Amino acid sequence: MLSIDNLIVNYAQVEAVRGVSIFVGTGEMVALIGANGAGKTTVLHSVMGLLKPKAGTITLKGENLVGRPSNRILDLGVALVPEGRQLFSHLTVQENLEVGYGRKFRMRFDRKGFQSRLEKIDGYFPRIGERLNQIAGTLSGGEQQMVAIARALMSDPDLLLLDEPSLGLSPLMMDTVIALLTRLHGEGMAILLIEQNARAALRISQRAYVLDSGRTTLDGEARPLLNDPRIQQAYLGL
Ligand code: ATP
Repeated sequence: MLSIDNLIVNYAQVEAVRGVSIFVGTGEMVALIGANGAGKTTVLHSVMGLLKPKAGTITLKGENLVGRPSNRILDLGVALVPEGRQLFSHLTVQENLEVGYGRKFRMRFDRKGFQSRLEKIDGYFPRIGERLNQIAGTLSGGEQQMVAIARALMSDPDLLLLDEPSLGLSPLMMDTVIALLTRLHGEGMAILLIEQNARAALRISQRAYVLDSGRTTLDGEARPLLNDPRIQQAYLGL
């Protein structure tokens, strides 16, 4: 599905990502963990076309993504749930979802297609249907995170990128997000997940990569990593 090879990304003088290679198979859930500033967000933003890598390749189903605009990458089947939700807080929930519906459907806005996608989304988040006309900025933090995920799902992606979806959520809301990701994965969606809660991420993912200062320091099957002393010490507080 997604193949990142030897990715190098700089911000002016800062070498944020220094030769990272990551693979996500079809329908696979992969976690990306690491300390603050390790380069995780930079990797996701590069995949989504929000940053231009200095070197390396990124391909989706064999197609090159580097140098393509984000809306084209969305059309190819990738969607991002950004860190901090980044909703259009003055727009309604419905308007936020319309943005996520994506360009390929919007050339002439396909109301019927949008509605059918909305019905599908309503099955994941039963409360969204009741909130369509609410201004997004007035939702609770947990509800906003749900709208951010729903917005990304509106384009029916093959690969979902999530940047810290549980940040700032209550334990109950966090469980809801984890259950949703498990369900999406069960339905065949490929997922690349950045998650501060390494334990939760490793429990639901099949494989994981650990980034440190822009480099991959560990990778492998997620379950054994839960018992790896290096992971336990650095990320699980054991
Ligand atoms: P966090 O968990 O804190 O979000 P991260 O692993 O996602 O961290 P990145 O946000 O990718 O890390 O940042 C990697 C490095 O790049 C950090 O040293 C950061 O300070 C730097 N960086 C990120 N964005 C910029 C920017 N716009 N300009 C300059 N440096 C940046």
